[in-house]
This record gives sequence, C-alpha cells and structure tokens, in this order.
Amino acid sequence: MRAMVLNKPRTPLEWTELPDRHPGPGEIRVKVLACGVCRTDLHVLDGELPDPKSPIIPGHEIVGRIDEIGPGVTGLKMGERVGIPWLGHTDGVCPYCMENRENLCDHPLFTGYTRDGGYATATIADARFAFSLGETGSDVSLAPLLCAGLIGWRSLGIAGEAKKLGLYGFGAAAHIIAQVAKWQRREVFAFTRPGDLAGQAFAKSLGATWAGGSDEMPPVLLDAAIIYAPVGALVPLALRAVRKGARVVCAGIHMSDIPSFPYCILWEERELISVANLTRQDGVDFLALVPKINIVVKTTTYPLDQANRALADLRAGRFEGAAVLVP
Ligand SMILES: [Zn+2]
Ligand SMILES: [Zn+2]
Repeated sequence: MRAMVLNKPRTPLEWTELPDRHPGPGEIRVKVLACGVCRTDLHVLDGELPDPKSPIIPGHEIVGRIDEIGPGVTGLKMGERVGIPWLGHTDGVCPYCMENRENLCDHPLFTGYTRDGGYATATIADARFAFSLGETGSDVSLAPLLCAGLIGWRSLGIAGEAKKLGLYGFGAAAHIIAQVAKWQRREVFAFTRPGDLAGQAFAKSLGATWAGGSDEMPPVLLDAAIIYAPVGALVPLALRAVRKGARVVCAGIHMSDIPSFPYCILWEERELISVANLTRQDGVDFLALVPKINIVVKTTTYPLDQANRALADLRAGRFEGAAVLVP
C-alpha cells in the first residue's frame, strides 16, 4: 500500500510505500476510493492536538470498499462500500459509553489521529465503526459527509430548534449544514472571513438569507449560532449576534484562545457549548437523511500524492466547499 505519512508535526506529508496490512479480529481492510480533507487534519499536522500516533496517516472522511475481512466480523461483506469516520473505536464500557455518549468515551481511537486513516490506498478499520454507504452517490461527494457532514449534523442538533441560525466559517461543514438547515425550514445567516465576497456569494447560492463578514452584525438577532472556524475571537462576536436565551455552539476540535469579554454578552441565559466528536447513532441518523435532502457537496479533488497542496489550499481558503483526495 501507499500512503501520505506525517512523520513529524509541522513537516510535509511524505509519499511512502508500506507493507500491505491485514485486518485483525473485528477489523476490516478497506481499499480507499476517496478521502476528504478536514480542518482537523491541519490541527494534526500542526501538532495542536495532544498525544497523536506518530508517524500517522491522516484522513478521517474515508469512502472505500471492503477487500479483506478479519475474524469475528458480522454484518459486512466483501466489496461493500463503506464510510470510515473520525470516531474509530470506543471501549464500550466507560461511564460515557454506558450512557449513550460514546462521543465522550474515556478510551477512544480517532481515525487519522490516534489510528491510521485514509490518506492512503488502503486502511484498516474497526468494523463496528464503519457505515454501510450503499451505491447511491459518488465516492468523492460522499467523503466530506463523513466528518464535515456528521459533526455538522451533531452541532446542528445541539443548536436546538433555532429558526434563525448563524454559521460562522462557511467551509466544508457549513456548506453542507446550510442545506440541511434550509431543508428543515430554518433561515441561515452565513459569516465568512471579512471581505470574502466569493464565499458570501457561495453561501447565498446555497440559500442563505444573509451573508456577510464575521466582523459584521446580522440584520436581526439570531436564535442560535454555530462556529466552525477555529478562531476564538468569533465567540464574543457570535454571543453579541444572538438573542436572549440563545445558544452558541463551538463545533471545532481546536480553537485559538477566546479573548475575554464582558459578562453582559453572556447574561440573559445565553449559552456557550462545544461539540465533541460523534456517536454512531449520529452517523446512522444523518446518512439516512442524505438521500432525502439531496445535498449538493461542492468538492475540489486532488490526487492522493498532492495531499500537501490540498492542505495548503484549505489553510489559505483557496476553494469553496471541501477538498477530497483520490488515490
Ligand atoms: Zn467508552
Ligand atoms: Zn473532520
């Protein structure tokens, strides 16, 4: 197999030939057909997340086909198309797993962070954490749903019933969740980097009621806001943009420091909450909705060996939607 490997944080990924791997008990081997590039991959690259596997093959938005099945796996068959998400393993016995909050498991493994991921021609996955994808939809357009879509979906649920919904950072997750929110008959208010007129036009093309820079106030106070950009300075801006009793959801795994802010913008029962990871139930619920909503995923594809270029383009905001690597 071949892979783009991160040997050390803050160095480019290296195109590497590796011995073929075989699935152990409870595992499957998946031939990778497409793997999305997520902002979290940049945090792994930059060494911003604690205790990564090293060296590591990044990538946790994997679409592939099962080409080997380990002992004890049930319910999956050879050749089946599956999706491998960020949550790669849980212990199943800790207090969080026991109360159906496996996203907070005490002993998890995360794909492309603490176990090898999909920037490769093949990957090994825990079979219990693979989603059957069926045959509808292209490999490339499904890949970003595995994280941007899934964690976006979880953050949308945590935002609650909000009719007027603000989305800060209009990248891969927001462009998917804007379509879900519209389908749910919500109004979307999209916040991009200041001056990103192309991003604002993109948001409007997906049905946003209003789009502007993150330094602007929306025309009306919002019922909730979700922050997808890893920028702590957005927290006080979002708190100022929401009404009394509203929730501000931080959906990223990493954020720059949040600047201090006056208590009055949190006062009146505004809530600030983060969203961590996903549960398998989130995946089942969201993937069942995808065909009904007819989500249009905007993708830019790169050959697998161009992963460094894809990551640089993501960092610089050089494309709309999501980047996807194709082996
Ligand atoms: Zn657990
Ligand atoms: Zn991700």
